[in-house]
Amino acid sequence: MQQDAEQGTQYGDQYIDGEWRPSLDAGSITVLNPATEQVLATVPAGGTADVAAAVTAARRAARSWAATSREERLALLTRLRDGLAGCQEEIADTVVAELGAPVGFATAVHAGLPLAVAGSYLALLAEYPFEERIGNSVVLAEPAGVVAAITPWNYPLHQIVAKVVPALAAGCPVVLKPAEDTPLVARLFARLVHEAGFPAGVFNLVTGTGAVAGAALVGHPEVDVVSFTGSTAVGRTVAETAGRGIKRVALELGGKSANVVLPGADLARAVNVNVANVFANSGQTCSAWTRLLVHQDQYEEAVGLAAKAAAKYLPGDPADSRTRIGPVVSARQRERVRGYITGALAEGARLVVGGADAPAGLDTGFYVRPTVLADVTNDMTVAQEEVFGPVLAVLAYRDEDHAAELANGTQYGLAGGVWAADTDTAAAFARRLDTGQVDLNGGRFNPLAPFGGYKNSGLGRELGRPGLEEFLQLKSLQY
Ligand code: NAD
Repeated sequence: MQQDAEQGTQYGDQYIDGEWRPSLDAGSITVLNPATEQVLATVPAGGTADVAAAVTAARRAARSWAATSREERLALLTRLRDGLAGCQEEIADTVVAELGAPVGFATAVHAGLPLAVAGSYLALLAEYPFEERIGNSVVLAEPAGVVAAITPWNYPLHQIVAKVVPALAAGCPVVLKPAEDTPLVARLFARLVHEAGFPAGVFNLVTGTGAVAGAALVGHPEVDVVSFTGSTAVGRTVAETAGRGIKRVALELGGKSANVVLPGADLARAVNVNVANVFANSGQTCSAWTRLLVHQDQYEEAVGLAAKAAAKYLPGDPADSRTRIGPVVSARQRERVRGYITGALAEGARLVVGGADAPAGLDTGFYVRPTVLADVTNDMTVAQEEVFGPVLAVLAYRDEDHAAELANGTQYGLAGGVWAADTDTAAAFARRLDTGQVDLNGGRFNPLAPFGGYKNSGLGRELGRPGLEEFLQLKSLQY
């Protein structure tokens, strides 16, 4: 490790087979602070050699790790959970620095959620029935083998924990390939795994690009399970490669979720919660309610409420505890979001708040103006494609059938919201939605509930019991 004022901290190692060792591949990835555009660090751009070393170590560890008792795994995972609890501030600061998330949100969500998820898997592991008698069979739930975990940058530690912890709990060794933009919190996680004392090879970290390290990992013949979170486009490629290798694959992909406000609902609350939902994490949330669907008779009132709520979100320094919205993760992401805003206006959307130009006074940093677009119709690009930025589109519907048709009218089906006069009415409407999660009248996120997509939003589920079962395979013994 070297320290350099211009280059930040230069790391040259990967975590493989229970130790930090020099990368076997040439090349590095530069990690920027999106608020200052300064270099935070460089990490190795691992390639086929690092991936092969990590997978070999995982394969070597697989049989003995699979043979550990529930109690042994619980003891190690409890130490890992305690490690996460003991460095919440360091986690939050790391995510503020490499993602640009505001420190309050980083503390509550980027640091707090992984801790809650890790805790949920301790409880599940303590009681999970790994053996079940069915007639003259005993059905064993056995570890599914070597896991490749590939994660994105938007909830960088949550997505790591949501894969690695259940995989380890199930008895599978893991090779993690985190996103290029946020490898530092992944390195912090590897340090905590090491400190918890897991056997060598059970957890391995290879930083690198998706096209090289990610593809090498998915294609490696000794990988049995691929758990991928990222874009639908890359997920399709990952599934094709995994399919050729007859590998089990779980995909958590994109979303274009709708929040449907039915007549009789508390409109002001529904709109305020929607604005907060879509601007959280600078709009970089796969399950964000990016389309607000309101009855045509309440449309202008809803647009006015959204404008008022959105005006309270002023982009600023994520390290300042008063900041509610920071930059987006990269210059590339900023250009993408601005392009969607410009495109929406060209297609006929009305700009209510925000816009494609840079926020006033923020010349440095990858900032985007929080934006509300009205008069959006479902055929517009901004209603169909994932923007992954702080952009809310408000659409009008005629009646409930039309609302359901619009809500279901994209390739995605990850999340959604329904607001109604009462929960029964909201639940009845939620049954009509082709989507994996629906929050009724502002129902809170539940880290024990399965999370995943219908349609092109993915395959399989993370979190809770189904999230553990992604890493188990069944064997039936008859006697
Ligand atoms: P991405 O698909 O570009 O990258 C995700 C990960 O895949 C990264 O680690 C990347 O290096 C790797 N990768 C890229 N090309 C690869 C290849 N050919 N083979 C193997 N790995 C490869 O996505 P992103 O831009 O990092 O993340 C944003 C996307 O993730 C959004 O579309 C978002 O909706 C989605 N997402 C989904 C969920 C969910 O749970 N459904 C959660 C968060 C993010």
